[in-house]
Amino acid sequence: MDLGFAGRAYVVTGASSGVGLAVTAALLAEGAHVAACARDTERLEKALAGLASSGKDSTDGARVHAYACDVLDEAAVTDFVTGAAADLGRLDGVVNNAGRSLMSPVANTSRDQWREEFELKIFSVLNTVNAALPALRASDAPAVVNVNAILARQPEWRLGATSAARAALLNLTKTLAHDLAPVRVNSVCLGLIDTGQWRRRYEATDHSQTWDEWCADLAADRGVVLGRLGTAPEAAHPILALLSPRASYITGTSIDVGGGNTRHV
Ligand code: NDP
Repeated sequence: MDLGFAGRAYVVTGASSGVGLAVTAALLAEGAHVAACARDTERLEKALAGLASSGKDSTDGARVHAYACDVLDEAAVTDFVTGAAADLGRLDGVVNNAGRSLMSPVANTSRDQWREEFELKIFSVLNTVNAALPALRASDAPAVVNVNAILARQPEWRLGATSAARAALLNLTKTLAHDLAPVRVNSVCLGLIDTGQWRRRYEATDHSQTWDEWCADLAADRGVVLGRLGTAPEAAHPILALLSPRASYITGTSIDVGGGNTRHV
């Protein structure tokens, strides 16, 4: 099925690594234009250069644009998103992906860390959505996808602040779907996806296990039915499914992408 992305333009935040990079690659492969951001532009440009040379056609280099932006900085996000819409000549969607998780039990989490988690999960989304709205309203198929976590519905004790902030974002996504209609707003809730986040955690271990052994134990510990971590493309494809103009009657909902690690019905 043609997903209808060709010639359309999308903003992807946190595109230098993991899920954001995989979303950017998949959008380029579908013929879309992408405005990609991260804080470290050198890393972003390096990652995007790899994509530009591996795309379907020789115009890919011109279809992906790198911008330096911290999604927590409202003025910087406004400059990024409005500049991207002007550079690309249109804007059909936003993938709010930039982020991380805070591994810290509640008893060890400071007020500042709580605030930072809510800033990152809530204001990063409000900043891009507010900036993108005028351009999205001019599109015939506008969509926002918020990259969230299964933690939103299924808190994990080691990630108290992140879980609570994720729940708030899931709730906010419903309200945005109502308030921004006909702009569609949906979530993808990720489980364990093999990206920079997990590689960094493995690097901090004593390396008594190989990466594969460590991942298998992690998957077993978290009850992943499929017994392994997901890949970044496996997270990206459901994001594209919700972003696609073909999903024109889907809004205010979420898809779990966790290899079956959700225990709620
Ligand atoms: P990675 O660490 O691989 O990539 C994170 C990306 O976000 C990088 O490009 C990073 O670049 C960027 N980023 C981080 N903070 C900011 C910021 N303040 N402003 C702009 N860009 C930022 O992460 P993943 O691909 O694993 O995660 C993507 C999303 O999925 C995150 O929101 C994460 O919380 C969520 N998620 C991931 C899971 C997983 O198992 N991987 C599970 C559940 C949710 P730079 O540092 O240069 O800014």
